[in-house]
Amino acid sequence: MMNLFKSLLLHIIFFLSSSSSSSINNTGSTAIQFRNISEIPQNSHGIAGYSHITLAGSFAHGMKEVEVWLETFAPGSHTPIHRHSCEEVFIILKGTATLFLASNSHPSHFPGNPHQIPVFQNSTFIVPVNHPHQLWNTHEHEDLQFLAIISRPPVKVFIYDDWFMPHTEAKLKFPIFWDEGFVQPNTSKDHHDHNDDL
Ligand code: ZN
Repeated sequence: MMNLFKSLLLHIIFFLSSSSSSSINNTGSTAIQFRNISEIPQNSHGIAGYSHITLAGSFAHGMKEVEVWLETFAPGSHTPIHRHSCEEVFIILKGTATLFLASNSHPSHFPGNPHQIPVFQNSTFIVPVNHPHQLWNTHEHEDLQFLAIISRPPVKVFIYDDWFMPHTEAKLKFPIFWDEGFVQPNTSKDHHDHNDDL
């Protein structure tokens, strides 16, 4: 009887250990997505002097919490003035730029004259949630290249025509250019994305 009990116990232990190791293998094989950056498609999205690569994307790679972009701007080119309801971390890899940052988005109803902050290779900065900003390659000859990491993907961007446009008139751009192939624009309406949030 004791031998039967031992044998049964060993079977149970073997079953538990083999099933748990297979689940570890399954997790391991799906958790890592290895890519060669030079082989990832880049796209200008019709914008002169611009190149975007999604290194880790919500739609493209199933990212849930963050998204990482590699962006390149030719001399004189720039992002739009925009805000988004997520954090954004910039890491400047190459070149120099001017960061335009709204001086005080609350309580005024428009961004107003922005602070101008010079940024350069090896600098990093964080743009807070819903803070209007713009990055401009102010170098005469060199490309500007940076990593941008955003939280809460996919990004929903509100674009301003100028620094004195009211927050409520900034236009929602969703899906953003590189997400357009994944999302139908007419499914993008979402109460949480409206300007009334501000
Ligand atoms: Zn941004």
